[in-house]
Amino acid sequence: MRSTMGAEALAAEVARIAGLASGRVLAGEPLAPRTSYRIGGLADIFAVARSREELAGLVRAARTLGMEWRILGRGTNLLVADRGVRGLVIANRAEGAELVREPGGCCGARADSGALLGQLAMRACRAGLGGLEFAVEIPGSVGGAVAGNAGAFGGAMADVVTEAEVLNAKGDVVTLPSSELAFAYRTSRFRTARGRDEIVLRARMRLQPTKAADLLARAAANRETRQRSQPWGRCAGSVFRNPGRAEGAGEARSAGYYIEQAGLKGHAVGRARISPVHANFIMNDGGATAAEVYTLVSLAKERVRERFGVELQLEIQLWGDFEP
Ligand SMILES: Cc1cc2nc3c(=O)[nH]c(=O)nc-3n(C[C@H](O)[C@H](O)[C@H](O)COP(=O)(O)OP(=O)(O)OC[C@H]3O[C@@H](n4cnc5c(N)ncnc54)[C@H](O)[C@@H]3O)c2cc1C
Repeated sequence: MRSTMGAEALAAEVARIAGLASGRVLAGEPLAPRTSYRIGGLADIFAVARSREELAGLVRAARTLGMEWRILGRGTNLLVADRGVRGLVIANRAEGAELVREPGGCCGARADSGALLGQLAMRACRAGLGGLEFAVEIPGSVGGAVAGNAGAFGGAMADVVTEAEVLNAKGDVVTLPSSELAFAYRTSRFRTARGRDEIVLRARMRLQPTKAADLLARAAANRETRQRSQPWGRCAGSVFRNPGRAEGAGEARSAGYYIEQAGLKGHAVGRARISPVHANFIMNDGGATAAEVYTLVSLAKERVRERFGVELQLEIQLWGDFEP
């Protein structure tokens, strides 16, 4: 799907962004290869930020030009529309990360928001720093994980993040303590009206000295559980939040339970399929369109609402226009 902008207008916008910020800026870049779903159309304008400074500079430039912008981490929690997205998509490749052992005995990690969370978690396990073993198999960036309060096996980013360096809506870089990040089940300040225009530049995490062998064993056990209970392939992880936990009340039934009980496990539309392994995963069997995945999303919501009176909420983020 081509951009809706004419070639000349697009070239002018690219030049304007390139003139205001460093980093490579491209026109009409396909987003599908940059997402774990391998689905989606073009970004009108696409830039790669290789440092926190470039990341902040590109966002400031887009704001100056009044241009719509979005941050792309590793694209593992996203469904991009077949018609793509308008404005600027900034791929975050600010990847610095270090483990910290302070003289007072305080330990932790400091990572740029584009660093891979799973890699950092594995490094911490090997170094005998505990707290991130839940994240060893979570495939996204640190920034994406903070924004969505990613979690698994009873752990979540909220448990370890002590502060985040943030580019605020005014364009200033500020450090916010965890208490201001509004972490809750699979959400944070960055998904609220207050923080929607802010981005995570860097995060600091507190970790505990622990025997490396114990951490590695826990990480391996988590990996094994995941391999047994979840599908592997082109997907974006859990599609819906678990309703009991999202509402904080009632019986804690999982979204997968409701979808399965509604008879949809294994159901396919075109090349998209509700996983026969775990009904809260919608898979791209190869060549699926965003419209096909979205049809399954809508069907699951409708059937679960009709049958159980439960309103499923999306965990994945939708980018672009999904109206037929
Ligand atoms: C196989 C598989 C398994 C998964 N397992 C889990 C799991 O166990 N637990 C879990 O929680 N998730 C899981 N996920 C989902 C996903 O990996 C996480 O949500 C991850 O944290 C998303 O990070 P990302 O960099 O890919 O974000 P992206 O998909 O690139 O972006 C997601 C959203 O976050 C925003 N964002 C990204 N970076 C920033 C930033 N720096 N500042 C502000 N906003 C930002 C984006 O704009 C977008 O709206 C899984 C996904 C897959 C494919």
